[in-house]
Amino acid sequence: MRKIGLIGGMSFESSAVYYRMVNEAVRRHLGGLHSAEVLLHSVDFQSIVDLQMAGRWADAAKRLSDVARALEAAGADCVLICTNTMHLVAEEVQAAIGIPLINIIDETAKAMSAAGIRRPLLLATRYTMEHGFYADRMAGHGIEVMIPSPEDRTLVHDVIFKELCAGHVHDASRTALHAVIAEAKANGADAVILGCTEICLILDPDTLSLPGFDSTALHAGAAVAFALDGTEMTQTGCRKAA
Ligand code: GLU
Repeated sequence: MRKIGLIGGMSFESSAVYYRMVNEAVRRHLGGLHSAEVLLHSVDFQSIVDLQMAGRWADAAKRLSDVARALEAAGADCVLICTNTMHLVAEEVQAAIGIPLINIIDETAKAMSAAGIRRPLLLATRYTMEHGFYADRMAGHGIEVMIPSPEDRTLVHDVIFKELCAGHVHDASRTALHAVIAEAKANGADAVILGCTEICLILDPDTLSLPGFDSTALHAGAAVAFALDGTEMTQTGCRKAA
């Protein structure tokens, strides 16, 4: 089995989900008490948030590249950046290492393309929704991402940082997110991307008014497929316990 290198801590709430998902998927595929070979480097999230807020993306790229190199030196066979937002610097991180970086945007796009999705609503941080790196990479897969209105972008961003990353899940916020999805559906969206690795803590992709694509589950599933050398994984197959 290949070793999965996780750059986590952004936030640790979602890294815990990754850890559970990759282990449950390996146990399900190999049986018995098998579990994943994982190297996790969990960063101090506040130090990353400070760089995000200051727009210091080059410094963030250097920080995550250092972590990726350390994971490679420790024996990781692949690296995952366990956050959509920090894929803003994914190309720099990939360039710093000699092992594959499994890209969360590509994995999400592949699942949507296979399902015939063309115009999904993106629920994510302000950085992911507005910086263009995400939409551009999706466009490379033939997918045109729709983003919420400015007010709703603020809502989604605040739910992520003030609630989910801080360990709080509120019913009122779930209701508000469902309303954002309903509006996008009325405007022609054909799916919803849970494009932040904490959104699966508040929304179940299988119970939305549009097909849901959970970036955390798809990313973790791709890591397990890599670790088990080509085993086919599905979003549901990764998310649900055996
Ligand atoms: N985990 C979140 C994401 O997937 C947000 C945290 C961050 O800013 O890295 O984008």
